[in-house]
Amino acid sequence: MWGEFALINQGCRLNIAESQKIIEELQKKGWVLKSPESASVIIINSCAVTHRAESDFRKLVRKIRRKNPEGRIIAIGCLVDFNEDEASMADLYLKNSEKLSLPDLLESAGNETDIKRWKARGFLKVQEGCDLGCTYCIIPKLRGRSKSVPLRDIENRMEEFMKVGYEEVVITGIHLESYGRDLGDKEGFLRLLKFLERYFPEVRFRISSLDPRYLTSELLDYILYAPHIMPSFHLSFQHYSNKILRRMGRGTNKGFMKILERIKTANPYAGVGTDFIVGFPGEDEDDFRKLLDFAEQAPLTYFHVFSFSPRPGTKAAELKPSVPERIMGERSRILRELAEDKKRSFLSSLVGMEIEGTVIREGEALLENYVVLNFVHSGIPSGKRDKFLITENKRGYVEGKPLQNK
Ligand code: SF4
Repeated sequence: MWGEFALINQGCRLNIAESQKIIEELQKKGWVLKSPESASVIIINSCAVTHRAESDFRKLVRKIRRKNPEGRIIAIGCLVDFNEDEASMADLYLKNSEKLSLPDLLESAGNETDIKRWKARGFLKVQEGCDLGCTYCIIPKLRGRSKSVPLRDIENRMEEFMKVGYEEVVITGIHLESYGRDLGDKEGFLRLLKFLERYFPEVRFRISSLDPRYLTSELLDYILYAPHIMPSFHLSFQHYSNKILRRMGRGTNKGFMKILERIKTANPYAGVGTDFIVGFPGEDEDDFRKLLDFAEQAPLTYFHVFSFSPRPGTKAAELKPSVPERIMGERSRILRELAEDKKRSFLSSLVGMEIEGTVIREGEALLENYVVLNFVHSGIPSGKRDKFLITENKRGYVEGKPLQNK
């Protein structure tokens, strides 16, 4: 599950001290320390003192890939500075000068789980903490109340991004619609989006995640029609049964379907995704059926399925009755299969279309609607934007060709 990490230390005492600091910082941000076999992010604090250290690193990366193919590996430490080629076996590597910023980087990336995409785009953290109280979530306890980054600081960060040359910026935060409330501004997030449109019109912004309960009509309309915001929606529904939503401390499903219909009416090719938690305590067959019906009928283009796992210190960890592992596994499987079907049919509906995207690495772009496109590499540098013609749908991605930089 995203938010769970492992850290393997290969080096000297200095590395151990720094690893400790990174672990503490991540835990303060709500990340949970797990084993390398089960974590979503595995950090290797590497060493380059001997030749053996390099081969140990190689072996370790292979072993992790074998045991945890879904895990994302991040290399930090001396090997990165001395042998970038070797370090590039990892999904992401950070030099010694950058490594202590790793906890912030992981936090800023929000729910963007493909870390290979991080370097091609700017991640603009505008808020942290949360005033809400979802029963399964430890963030309010660990990070405190919502705290917004003042516009002045956001402007400075954007200026830095402009110098780097980012053409796409992802707006991230724990609960974006809370932006500005601590500053006494109820329309804060909408005002922030207008501010970014006014002062950085050349940038295309992607909103990392929105809470459907706080998505006002005015905010949704603005996002749907603002030229600088991409049609890429990640809406945190979590479930659809009102009984379970209440147990989660997330109210009811009122308005969920309406929001989705409005998005799809405005832009049938918008990317619309969500996360579902399966096996929350008390989830019975009827609750699961409600969730499944919603997932089938809703115009979602992708969704992630997480099996409930209790986080110590949260109310949900005390809730009963728990759903047996076997049933939880079966429900997750059913939903994941549905997710694959829905994605496949969405991707095939895109063939023949022209859609803009950002090149995230050689021969790969992330389209505005959050679809990954592969193309024959034509020298377009990572981070640049282009328009792509979609020629074929494949499993989990599409193929196409760039139209402006042929
Ligand atoms: S909205 Fe809920 S899940 Fe999200 S950070 Fe706040 S308490 Fe946690």
